[in-house]
Amino acid sequence: MTMSRQLTFRYLALLLVAGCASPQSSSNVSGPQPKPVPEARAPRTSAQASGQRAESTKAWALPLWPEFDAAVARGTRTTTGQPGPNYWQQGASYKLEAEMNPVAKRLSGTGTITYQNNSPDELAVLYVQAYNNLFAPQAKRNTEVLAALGGIRFTRVQAGRTVLDSTAAGVGFSVTGTVMQIRLPEPVGPGKSIELSFDWNLRIAPDGPRGGQDRETYVLSYWYPQMAVYDDVGGWQVDQYLGNAEFYMGYADYDVALTVPAGWLVTSTGELTNADEVLAEETRRRLAQARSSGTVVNVVRQQERGAGKSTTEGNDGKLTWRYRANNVRDVTWATSNLYLWDAVGVETGDVNGDGRPDTTLVESFYRPDRLRDGWHESARYGAKAISVYSKALWPYPWPHMSVVDGPPSCGGMEYPMLTCIGGSFNARSLFDVEAHEIAHMWFPMMVGSDEKRYAWQDEGMAQFFQAAAIREEFPTADDEGESRRNYVEAVRYIGETELMRHGDRYPNYTEYGVASYFKAATALVALRGVIGDSTFARALREYGRRWIYRHPTPLDFFETVNDVAQQDLDWFWRSWYYETWKLDLAIDDAMIVGDSLDVQIENRGRVPMPVVLVAQNQKGERTRVTVPVDVWLSGTKRATVRMAIPTGFTRVEIDPDEQFPDLDRTNNTWPRR
Ligand SMILES: [Zn+2]
Repeated sequence: MTMSRQLTFRYLALLLVAGCASPQSSSNVSGPQPKPVPEARAPRTSAQASGQRAESTKAWALPLWPEFDAAVARGTRTTTGQPGPNYWQQGASYKLEAEMNPVAKRLSGTGTITYQNNSPDELAVLYVQAYNNLFAPQAKRNTEVLAALGGIRFTRVQAGRTVLDSTAAGVGFSVTGTVMQIRLPEPVGPGKSIELSFDWNLRIAPDGPRGGQDRETYVLSYWYPQMAVYDDVGGWQVDQYLGNAEFYMGYADYDVALTVPAGWLVTSTGELTNADEVLAEETRRRLAQARSSGTVVNVVRQQERGAGKSTTEGNDGKLTWRYRANNVRDVTWATSNLYLWDAVGVETGDVNGDGRPDTTLVESFYRPDRLRDGWHESARYGAKAISVYSKALWPYPWPHMSVVDGPPSCGGMEYPMLTCIGGSFNARSLFDVEAHEIAHMWFPMMVGSDEKRYAWQDEGMAQFFQAAAIREEFPTADDEGESRRNYVEAVRYIGETELMRHGDRYPNYTEYGVASYFKAATALVALRGVIGDSTFARALREYGRRWIYRHPTPLDFFETVNDVAQQDLDWFWRSWYYETWKLDLAIDDAMIVGDSLDVQIENRGRVPMPVVLVAQNQKGERTRVTVPVDVWLSGTKRATVRMAIPTGFTRVEIDPDEQFPDLDRTNNTWPRR
């Protein structure tokens, strides 16, 4: 999801009310959690080697995580960031049919889920997410909704051949908030599968959050019962969907059939498998042309909308669009009778390993009145973002990427192969939001972390990578600097809460956003500064290679970077992810000694970081020395460093390139400015 625009508004509102909770205050959930336990996590390599925990007294060692250590002991995780030899995750295959009725504004669905138990555990109880119950009148929420509409109504729940009743106990099902519990007639053993089937219907929400209806435009997100994640570290993750914190979803295969009025255009996660039945010949011809074209093709123009024009006539005024998607976390779709349709092909790299570059199709669906916001550029913007990330990370693997004009509440919201974008934009803000959401195709759509409990693990990545795409289109833009300034100013004027916290347990939305987006992106910039550009790039690619279509925890990310960089960076993870320690490096004094300079440096904050000292003369000639972080790790707060200086030396400065978010830069130079 996109943060920046919402934050600007809420941030100002918060400043005006001088510290009161923002409008997004999570007053109906339990208050802030205590700080992470001060117990130190042992260095993991020695702990594993000796089979027992060697207590560490390092102030920067990571907090204990007994469930993770137990997973290491079972061989599903490792202490080096690789999935363990016994790593497993659950599988599922969905066959879903849904009809959207724009008059009643209802969706009705029927479908089966074949759930594959790959865990070593016998499961007598299964959990299914019913996210749409966010809209039930009695739902707990930490987000505003426009109307309480009743949530999702199940008219049939079946396990195998047994039709289940809604019961409080015993065989049957019960729904609490947004989570359904199914108590099976017989447990599903390890390696076995079970078929669940459902009939359901729901009233489509007007404007979100994250989808819904906006005039004749519908974005259908969280529209079907979805298996909750059962994983090797935490077991069932059945946290309620309260509106703010996002999702944790398992990988599955989907066959979906979506029925809408003829003439309405549809786009969905997955590949359209019956284009011949739903698209007019000319529409198909232009799509094929777009695939091999480097410039945007108008697939459906304003006068070409409607049944018998861009789509086929259909039966009884309806058309059923069929999609197939393998190994994705979710399926979301959008439909409108107002959409224009643009598309452009873009090279992504060698996806299938045949040595030749592959392409994907970037599609854009928008209403004509969005042209004033620059939506005619939206397909090209999407293609540029895909191209940048495919080079920086790994090739975009899917057949298409749809950028969809949706309800304002979307702001920007990511789904596999699709992003819903709502609100008003200009060229720069439209590019920014597309760049952010498309970065989410890598994190968390491909690298499937738990967004609810570790929002930084996908939001921080998206916020970090969007900067590279933005720079490609707007060479003078400094998006990394904007994130850093947002973080630094929030710390100065509001206060902050650490990154390692459940997304629904921040004191307010602003602190959730500062931590998960701006501080998380700023920490990645700082990490790149610490380990260097090429090691950083290798570490991120290796993290992707190890965890693509899997479920990495924060430790799997930290350990992968430690492993690739061949460094113990726990001081970094502890400082930036688990704590709200401040960075304030300073030059206390300096003295010229012959052709060298003795610089007295001080660590006035609590975060240990390397000290990059740059001395320069009037001509701008520079000398540089980097004091390794070790100078601080023993607890020392002051040190003297001798460095070479250029002839005609005028000044010395700590971190003049601003790689690190130093809270007070006025003490970074000598002589003081
Ligand atoms: Zn996001």
